[in-house]
Amino acid sequence: MDIWQRKPYKEIEVEVLVVGGGAAGATAAIAAAREGAATLLVERYGFLGGISTQVLDTFYGFYTPGSHPRKVVGGIPDEIVEALAQHDSMLIRPNTYGAGNGITYNPEILKVVWETLAIRAGVKILFHTLAVEVSVNRERIETVTAATKSGFLRIRPRVVVDASGDADIAALAGVPYESASHGPVQALTTTFRLLNVDLQRATQVTRKELHERMAQAIAEGAYDLPRKEGSVHISPLPGVMATNMTRVVEVDPTDIEQLSQAEIEGRRQALEYFRFLRERVPGYERACLAGLSVQIGVRESRRIWGRYRLTREDVLNGRKFEDAIAQCGAPIEEHHAGKDTRWEYLPEGETYHIPYRCLLPANCEGLIVAGRCLSADHDAHASVRSMGQCMAMGQAAGVAAAWAAQHKTTPAEIPISRLQERLRQIGAILD
Ligand SMILES: Cc1cc2nc3c(=O)[nH]c(=O)nc-3n(C[C@H](O)[C@H](O)[C@H](O)COP(=O)(O)OP(=O)(O)OC[C@H]3O[C@@H](n4cnc5c(N)ncnc54)[C@H](O)[C@@H]3O)c2cc1C
Repeated sequence: MDIWQRKPYKEIEVEVLVVGGGAAGATAAIAAAREGAATLLVERYGFLGGISTQVLDTFYGFYTPGSHPRKVVGGIPDEIVEALAQHDSMLIRPNTYGAGNGITYNPEILKVVWETLAIRAGVKILFHTLAVEVSVNRERIETVTAATKSGFLRIRPRVVVDASGDADIAALAGVPYESASHGPVQALTTTFRLLNVDLQRATQVTRKELHERMAQAIAEGAYDLPRKEGSVHISPLPGVMATNMTRVVEVDPTDIEQLSQAEIEGRRQALEYFRFLRERVPGYERACLAGLSVQIGVRESRRIWGRYRLTREDVLNGRKFEDAIAQCGAPIEEHHAGKDTRWEYLPEGETYHIPYRCLLPANCEGLIVAGRCLSADHDAHASVRSMGQCMAMGQAAGVAAAWAAQHKTTPAEIPISRLQERLRQIGAILD
């Protein structure tokens, strides 16, 4: 029997379906449920957070970089940070690595923070649920089918928020997109954390010195380190340092064979960087590998074609839009093939707007995307993908989805001034 003809074990109707529980999706679900919409969040792993808990430990994008940081993200993202602070599980690292103030946290606590806020808001969460198929009628998604241990689950949503990072739902629905087959996508990174580091000595090593030691190790041919500018930073955990060092290039993250190879290569590189740190950098002599990222970190995969496509020029000129739903001051940070990373900055203190139209697919009603799969060119994406902005986009998508579902209309029909007014009321910083 054709697998898709199999009877689902269950059918559910919801007002808002959020696919993917990363920074964008978890925030979208919280926002939609708080607006009173019956909201279902499906997530393929057994916890929320996406890259924020699978791979990383630092939120960027909350502040503009430079000597006078300005906070440009607010609302639900603030509550996440406050909850982390209540658990004594975050610290602010000023102006780190050129990306501005970073909010570094314990990702294990963040998993609990995300789900606690979501449950309190009334979100129904289904973990271990992978959305795999959609049915579309007259450019509108009618059903989303997910694979689960219980069998196929068929969901009939009024509005879908695609926060899968890879635009899985948009792609299945026939929304055009750009990905690795259309041009370069950023390198992938397996992160790792080290414990038993002598922090007193390790934190004396400047970024410049670390990079010189890497360059020296590479020049001697003693280590296979594909990236010369990897970073290492403190965490809220005593004696623990976190890294962002490995670099796996020329991978299409939506090709499962390439992604599988990338996982293996990422772990191989992680052990090589670990060896380098132990043998060549003061403070790491007795360090132990505390953990590898849950999966290799995917910076960029599918970017949809939306009703507007954010461009490199928009970013670098700090362009403002009538339909702003969030703003961003983060630099273009492009991890490409090669040993360095490309950084390009907005004028000091400037931000650009993220237009609502970047979340609306060109040819599909009842669907909003949020997070790193938004409509943007490669360079603009390299700026707008920070977690602060993904949360801000999720917040806007959740409010918009709830409004559209409750008013039995489409996200594109929402009066933008109403959406902006509501976003300001709940703490979003739009200008
Ligand atoms: C190595 C690396 C370093 C980075 N460094 C930083 C940093 O220091 N600070 C910063 O702010 N940003 C950083 N970024 C960027 C930032 O982390 C991401 O852009 C952001 O977290 C993306 O959030 P998202 O919610 O859009 O997507 P994701 O976090 O990718 O979330 C997508 C979610 O959807 C789930 N999912 C996917 N497909 C399906 C499906 N079909 N069905 C159900 N669930 C599905 C996934 O499991 C995941 O939980 C980094 C990214 C990488 C990869």
